[in-house]
Order: sequence, then structure tokens, then C-alpha cells
Amino acid sequence: MAYDFDLFVIGGGSAGVRCARISAQHGARVAVAEERFWGGTCVNVGCVPKKIMVNAAEYGMWAEDARAFGWDISLGGHDWAKLAAARDAEVGRLSGIYDKLLAGVGVTRFDARATFLDAHTLDVGGQRVTAERIVIATGGRATRLDIPGAEHGLISDDLFTLKALPKRVVVLGSGYIALEFACLLRGLGAEVDVIYRASLPLRGFDSDIREALAEAMVAQGIRLNPNVSPSRIARVGGQVIVSAGDSFFREADAVFFCTGRSPNTQGLGLAAAGVAMTAGGAVVVDDDHATSQPHIFAMGDVIDRVNLTPMATAVGHALADTLFGNKPRRASYDNVPTAVFTSPPIGTVGLSEEAAAKLGPVDVYVSRFTPMRHTISKRDGRKSLMKLVVCQNTQKVLGAHMLGEDSAEIMQGVGIAVVMGATKQDFDRTIGIHPTAAEEFVTMRTRTRVAGVAKAAE
Ligand code: NDP
Repeated sequence: MAYDFDLFVIGGGSAGVRCARISAQHGARVAVAEERFWGGTCVNVGCVPKKIMVNAAEYGMWAEDARAFGWDISLGGHDWAKLAAARDAEVGRLSGIYDKLLAGVGVTRFDARATFLDAHTLDVGGQRVTAERIVIATGGRATRLDIPGAEHGLISDDLFTLKALPKRVVVLGSGYIALEFACLLRGLGAEVDVIYRASLPLRGFDSDIREALAEAMVAQGIRLNPNVSPSRIARVGGQVIVSAGDSFFREADAVFFCTGRSPNTQGLGLAAAGVAMTAGGAVVVDDDHATSQPHIFAMGDVIDRVNLTPMATAVGHALADTLFGNKPRRASYDNVPTAVFTSPPIGTVGLSEEAAAKLGPVDVYVSRFTPMRHTISKRDGRKSLMKLVVCQNTQKVLGAHMLGEDSAEIMQGVGIAVVMGATKQDFDRTIGIHPTAAEEFVTMRTRTRVAGVAKAAE
């Protein structure tokens, strides 16, 4: 049967655009449908606008600290509208680039919603389109908790349309988005409460990092409310009140639900195409990202695996090479470096101490120090933490973790070493760059502790 396209990609975000573009470069006849905005979450309501706002918050702190270095700076306050305009212009520019990239390689673009009619046929904005292969890259969406008054809470998308800084903010949750929002809003001048159900923020991260981050957030005046599960939100006049049980109340101008995201599979017609989903609505895929239909693939946040842009683009590229480039390959989900753009930020790659210790004995190296800049600025709560988790048997570095300024930039390079299987001795024989914080990663000579021994002895 002759199909309209060799490949149809549903979703013009990071994963979909890369897969479509590379497939077209390999000679495939490709189409992409995007119903909302080209570039997806990352470019429009995620990584990009968030990072610009993180930068804005940092400037305030740097400007204050500059006085300790002799600069005569007076801060006249922050202009939210000016920041929003600059941010939105950059987002518009990048979104346009995504569209142009596709046009440049002859990909047919549909500004429309696509839904399955059957396993090879889609309804694309009212038009019937057929394709030999189909990629589902529809991403995810922010969700609200199912509690009374949830409609009074905002979701992460809403940060980027606010007309002014809310003076008092409650952030619900303690994952990536919650903590990044809390820090950037505090940095821009808001009073911030973070309410979360665990005892420490950032479940799944290394415990030393989680503890050090909590300390740093408190030092910058963020109120942490651990072990609290919100049960209700009420609007009273212009205020919102979050409560948990009968005794916990917080009043604010804005409440953000940062309590997780869901895969965008509703109404896609997956049943008509015979594509299986998990109970949580994620598309089920095998190691090649094929769904229960071998010619339909899925990638990015819609499979809810490692929900990070660079992971999604790597998978999209690998699939395009495999299907149309005669270069079958897979992107690895192991040792994915990641950063949380808190203040200070976190950079991490590989296993936490807790995860590594479950596999066997590990040598743990931890260093806590005040970066040179803050020995001068005297700013509280800016201590950096660096940590290496090393397999005792092979001496391979299994995990590297940092809380501290520039950690995201530093961890990209450390990530290469960890992916290559570098040992602690490889780190040790690397000469440091002095004076930097990063040199600490190659000068941690004294083991802090051993973990995971009990398991090894079993
Ligand atoms: P996360 O999964 O990181 O965090 C969700 C938070 O919501 C957790 O604190 C979780 O608590 C809490 N939560 C979930 N359900 C409930 C509930 N029923 N009641 C109370 N609390 C609840 O999701 P995010 O939405 O923050 O981020 C989504 C993903 O996007 C991230 O995992 C990451 O992959 C990606 N991302 C990456 C960024 C980056 O690279 N810098 C930035 C932003 C997002 P608990 O831990 O107790 O389960």
C-alpha cells in the first residue's frame, strides 16, 4: 500500500522535531503535527523560559554581592514586565527556529492536532493522512492534585503568563519544578513556602545533596514545610489559603501545583491503533521505543521514563538513524547527567550513595567548602558540596554529585568521565584547574566513609 508519508510524527517538541528532521535528512518523506507550540514544553513553558528567570534571580544576588568586592551598586528593584518581554522574545525566536529547521529539510508541517483512526491512519485537523511508520512524541502536561479547591492553584505553565511577581507564593511538591520555582521566585523577591509530603526534598537524589539543598534554601529565606500533604485550597478575596488537615494553613497570592506531570495520551485514539498504555497513561515501549504495534514508536515524556529534553532528542535521533539512516543504534539511559536549577544549582550523574550501596561496597568521598567568592561576599548558605561514589572493587566512579554554583556546567564534563567508566585513580591523576571549585573533584584524597558493606558481606 502507498502511504502519504514514510514517517508521521505526532508532536513538535524536542523528541519529535529531532526525529523528523534527521529522518528527512536520511531521505524519508516526513510530516509532523503540532497542536500547540513548536519546540514543545522545553522551549515554550519549561527549560528555556525557566532558565532565563533563574538567570534574572541570580543577577539580583550577584549585584548585592558585588558591593563586597568594591562596587558601588544600588538595586532599584526588579522590573517583571521587562524580564517577561525579554524572555518571551527569546522563546519566540527559538520556537521559530524549530519550525524553520523542519521547513529547511522538506518536512511537511501541520499546525493541528493528530489522532489515530487506525494503526496507519490519522485524522490531522480534519484531514485523513496515512503513514508507514508513526512516532508518538506528544510530551506531558502539568497536573493538579485531586483536592477541593484545586482550581485555585496554578500549574507551571502559568508562571510564564503572570503579569507581576506574586508577593507571597506557596509551592506544592519538592521535585525539580517545585524547587526551581521556589528558588527563582525567592530570588526575584517573593516570600516562598514549599509544602511537601516527604521529610527531605528531591526524592531519588543523593541524601547529602538533599540535606545540603534544604539548608541552602532555608538560608535564603525559603520556608520549608516537610511532612505535609495539602488537603484543600480556598480563595478568600484576592488570597488563596492552602490547608493540610485542621491545623496547617498558609495564605498566599499564588499557589503552584508542582506535584508531577502526566503523559499526553488522552484522546489520541491509541485504542483504535492498538497501542498499549500503562495505568498512568504512558505509552508502553520496548528497548527500541516500539509500542505494541511494531511500526508505531513513542519517545520523550509520553513514555514517562527519563523526562529530560536531551534524552528525548538523543532517542529521536537514534530512532531516525535506525529507521532511515541504515545505522541501527540506541541511546543509553544509563548515567544521564542532569541539573536542578535551584540556588545554588545541583549537578549530578550516575548513582546516589544509597542506590550504589545496594549493589555492593562503595567508597564515599564528600567535600563541603565555601567557594572563594563567598569568603568575600560573606553570603550565608552558599557552601558547595561535592561527592564521589566509587565502587570499592573496581574503583570506578559510579556517581558524582554537586550542589554549588556552576555545578550544571561542571557536571557535563564529569559526566563524560563517568560514562567512559573512569576510576577514582583517573580522577586523582587529572591535574586540577586552580583556583576553581571544580578542582575539588580531582583532589578529594581522603575517603569520608564506606557504605554498602553489609550487602557485600551477605
Ligand atoms: P517530579 O516527579 O520531579 O516531582 C513531583 C513532586 O510532586 C514530588 O515532590 C512528589 O512528591 C510530589 N507529589 C506527587 N504526587 C503527590 C501527591 N499526591 N501529594 C503530594 N505530593 C505529590 O516532577 P516535576 O513535575 O517537578 O518534574 C517533572 C519532570 O520534568 C522531572 O522529573 C524532570 O525529569 C523534568 N524536569 C527537568 C528539569 C531540569 O532538567 N532541570 C526541570 C524541570 C523538570 P514525592 O517525592 O514524595 O513523590
